[in-house]
Amino acid sequence: MNGIELEDKYGAHNYFPVPVLLTRGEGSWVWDSEGKKYLDLLSAYSALNFGHRHPRLVEAAKAQLDTLTLTSRAFHNTQLGLFCQELAELCGLESVLPMNTGAEAVETGIKLARKWGYQVKGVPRDQAKIIVFEDNFHGRTTTIISFSPDPDAHDHFGPYTPGFECIPYGDVEALRAAIDDNTVAVLFEPIQGEAGVIIPPEGWLRSVREICTQNNVLMIADEIQSGLGRAGTTFACEHENVLPDVYLLGKALGGGIMPVSAVVSTRAVMDVFGPNQHGSTFGGNPLSCAVAREVVAMLRTGEWQQRASELGAHLRLRLESLDGAHVKEVRSRGLWAGIELAPGMPTGREVCMTWMGKGVLAKDTHGSTVRVAPPLTITEQELDHAIAMLAETLQG
Ligand SMILES: *Cc1c(COP(=O)(O)O)cnc(C)c1O
Repeated sequence: MNGIELEDKYGAHNYFPVPVLLTRGEGSWVWDSEGKKYLDLLSAYSALNFGHRHPRLVEAAKAQLDTLTLTSRAFHNTQLGLFCQELAELCGLESVLPMNTGAEAVETGIKLARKWGYQVKGVPRDQAKIIVFEDNFHGRTTTIISFSPDPDAHDHFGPYTPGFECIPYGDVEALRAAIDDNTVAVLFEPIQGEAGVIIPPEGWLRSVREICTQNNVLMIADEIQSGLGRAGTTFACEHENVLPDVYLLGKALGGGIMPVSAVVSTRAVMDVFGPNQHGSTFGGNPLSCAVAREVVAMLRTGEWQQRASELGAHLRLRLESLDGAHVKEVRSRGLWAGIELAPGMPTGREVCMTWMGKGVLAKDTHGSTVRVAPPLTITEQELDHAIAMLAETLQG
């Protein structure tokens, strides 16, 4: 049996992958078990913003592997403090709590907001409310799927965690109406990735900031997919010059090497956590921190963000020139696009299968949308080639 068959026989069937068996990756390219190469236009859902095995990141990992990999938080390590300082500075905030996966960062943000609500805002015990949005995606834990509107993610996993109210995305009045005295946080994606790269109306992020400030509510930006260069800026919130109270980060923070996530906030908010009140065995381990520090260093110069912005403008032009009979809508920001197929076209999955045959890997989302999120290392020529193959695919 090959790897795909083994997975099918012995693995859980909780994914429906494109049937390609990968053995090697370098930059924007991956190779399958038969030596055929593909452009990677998914980048592991933006966890590979710097491509496969970027030399600077591999170097940082190797150097740390040769010294110290894990201490647990029972002891200190020399990487963690520097990681916290450097990431806090990149965010324009003051304090970092390291975790591993994105869902853990979201869970941590929820706990932080609730405890802040009880201890600082004075919300009565167990009454805290967090506002979330239709079509959200924040991860897979039982609490997070409790407020997922996606039946696949949500159904049959109850009983569900209360304390969340779900309102329309991008609607300022709905947000004003939903906030009450017990509201501790607004948890949102500045661009909804899993929903198909949904971009909120201009001004919405600024309105969320204003409404949160006026009502003493924490603004929690889940930038796990949108952040760290993808949207043409370090954070998608920067598009409207907005600084949230809390950033949730993950995916690209680990450089495609380690699972690394973090909650970043002001000192005043973070200080509601005291010893033993939250933690993670692997969170803040020196190997993860060494890789993530290199990611932060790469983002500090702004060159990757600029590259995403410039290549993104090019990508947008190319996508807009696709046949209107095939494409209903193109949504994009930075090097990140959702291509919504016109009615009557093959499904997103079918398009991805044909595109794969032409040497390009991408993944559908929500049935009729193809998501494009190439590594920020991709060249303009590679991008043009990929889009030419997409045009061919859509011609049928
Ligand atoms: C991927 C993602 C998560 C969950 O991250 P995991 O590492 O898969 O747990 C949370 N929020 C957003 C916006 C994401 O894209």
